Amino acid sequence: AGTRPYNFSAGPAAMPEAVLQRAAAEMLDWQGSGMSVMEMSHRGKEFGAICTQAEADIRTLLAVPEHFHILFMQGGGLGENAIVPMNLSRGTAADFVITGSWSIKSQKEAQRYCTANIAASNAGDHHTRLPDPSTWQLSKNASYVHLCTNETINGIEFQQLPDLAALGSDAPLVIDFSSHVASRSVDWRRVGLAFGGAQKNLGPAGLTLVIVRDDLLGHALEICPSAFNYKIVADNKSMYNTPPTWGIYMAGLTFQWLLQQTEGTLTGVAAMEQRNIAKARLLYDFIDASPFYVNKIDPGCRSRMNVPFFLADESRNDAFLAGAREAGLLQLKGHKSVGGMRASIYNAMPLEGVQALVSYMREFERSHA
Ligand code: PMP
Repeated sequence: AGTRPYNFSAGPAAMPEAVLQRAAAEMLDWQGSGMSVMEMSHRGKEFGAICTQAEADIRTLLAVPEHFHILFMQGGGLGENAIVPMNLSRGTAADFVITGSWSIKSQKEAQRYCTANIAASNAGDHHTRLPDPSTWQLSKNASYVHLCTNETINGIEFQQLPDLAALGSDAPLVIDFSSHVASRSVDWRRVGLAFGGAQKNLGPAGLTLVIVRDDLLGHALEICPSAFNYKIVADNKSMYNTPPTWGIYMAGLTFQWLLQQTEGTLTGVAAMEQRNIAKARLLYDFIDASPFYVNKIDPGCRSRMNVPFFLADESRNDAFLAGAREAGLLQLKGHKSVGGMRASIYNAMPLEGVQALVSYMREFERSHA
């Protein structure tokens, strides 16, 4: 580990230092090509090799089955809120499970392209617990069911994916996994499409990862822009238009870093998952044991990635943040819609960073309680 501060940003977020160093070393001359990756044709053999490797590595890391396409796109999570209904809804209906700020946005945007039913909502609980799947009102002929599997702002996460078939729906499940992709495994038997912006757990902003089952291609609405038509993007191996080459390269370096991570006998995403469980447990256990700090999320669905918390005495907020910055703990301010603090502890955050945060919180409590 280097000497940089620990960065708890929700996104764009900290990247593994080894990845940044490798990118710096290759900045002016990528592997003897005489070019920066940013200066290469996306159709040349150099970038072709980078892209092919990145795709193969994320397929390995997430154990993506062969009948799913991996697409590197642009537009981010909010872009996908329109792109998904344009490709999947056939102009009919889709079901949305509302669990927090991001799923609310998804449902609102989809209304422009289809009938966007709200199958369940935890708004009554202020997004502090997940609606029990047995209570979801799934509709008969929905073209898909949308979930945000980790609500970045609210700090609430699905610890397992629902089995829609067991709930009486034969619609494909669409998940927005922007803020926990590659932090845990994905059960692809339960998923039709997964999308995520790269800027939390994979790389820089500007790249969107889409993983889509092949039977869901080819049903886009007429109005769907060609560059956002999944079938066209898949047929052209993410090179229909110029892809976000720098983002793909940086994500590719992150994938290589992930593949090298180990915890005991575990490697890759399984190793990260163990580490993420340990990091989250350390922070939540500390918060729960202290009368000075509060987390309001139901313990059964607390996010391992985004930990919102409040000081019991909110008049201390500014002092807390200023002291944190001085202690080398950056970007802990909560989202404006929730307030308080938020520690985002994605894959690139080492256990030592969470230990440093807990030490700071303990010391701040001792000196201000
Ligand atoms: N979904 C989730 C879960 C997110 O965390 C975010 C970004 N914070 C978005 C969607 C929106 O992503 P973008 O800003 O890339 O459109």
